[in-house]
Amino acid sequence: MSHLGGSFGILCVYWTTKNYDMTKISELIQQIESIAPLCYQESYDNAGLIVGQADQEIKAVLCSLDTIEATIDEAIGLGANLIVSHHPIIFGGLSKINGANYVERTVIKAIKNDIAIYAAHTNLDNVLHQGVNQKIGQKLGLEAMEILQPMAIAQEHIGAGILGILPTPMDEKAFLDLLKNRMQAKCIRHTELLGKPIRKVAICGGSGQFLLPTAIKNKADVFVSADFKYHQFFDADGHILIADIGHFESEQYTIELLFDIISTNFSNFATHYTKIDTNPVKYY
Ligand SMILES: [Zn+2]
Repeated sequence: MSHLGGSFGILCVYWTTKNYDMTKISELIQQIESIAPLCYQESYDNAGLIVGQADQEIKAVLCSLDTIEATIDEAIGLGANLIVSHHPIIFGGLSKINGANYVERTVIKAIKNDIAIYAAHTNLDNVLHQGVNQKIGQKLGLEAMEILQPMAIAQEHIGAGILGILPTPMDEKAFLDLLKNRMQAKCIRHTELLGKPIRKVAICGGSGQFLLPTAIKNKADVFVSADFKYHQFFDADGHILIADIGHFESEQYTIELLFDIISTNFSNFATHYTKIDTNPVKYY
């Protein structure tokens, strides 16, 4: 995972030619946003550099789904001064920063320890290539993936959710087994089985209920997503199988996605994959 290693050779280059081998946070941002431009984020979102300054030099990076206090502690332990997450720690704005809740405490700890926080959120959801949903589709072995609901003003490769095809149709129970296994889901909440094979799969990592009508309109056999409420399950209405695998479970491979984007493009600092389970939902 580490390409830096603090070798004497690298140190010599660093000390003799100032900043020769250092990467600024801005350069990493540029790389991520060449894949997932910030302009593709939803209007309610707060993706981008949330804490820290873009001209800071990167010592090491920690990739995670969420940034919580334990994530900052992990970064400190690793000597990382940049956390790249999917979910923005500041979402609805802060009017006071006095440590009254976990968001404020996380921000305070990050600033005190000179750790920057960057989030690639709905902009990473809304791109097909190297996006959150393509990653899920790859884990399920889907082919011919395309955007489920393209953005009106953008190209066909930008928008919400994806549609993909299973190479071989499966019966519903076999598909749920595959889903549970590949997505490491402890529990799948689903609607009534319809007794027909699964071939066309619609996916939206995270809260995807808003895409259910589009998944039905596109004749998807199943909609894999999370955060469905009781009454929203009724909306399947015999048209589709809804499989709610949990928010964290659906987006967990985004950590791998961010790790791969960063580690394949930058070799002069270490990129780490978080070992902390930030899922706030526990199963009994
Ligand atoms: Zn999410």
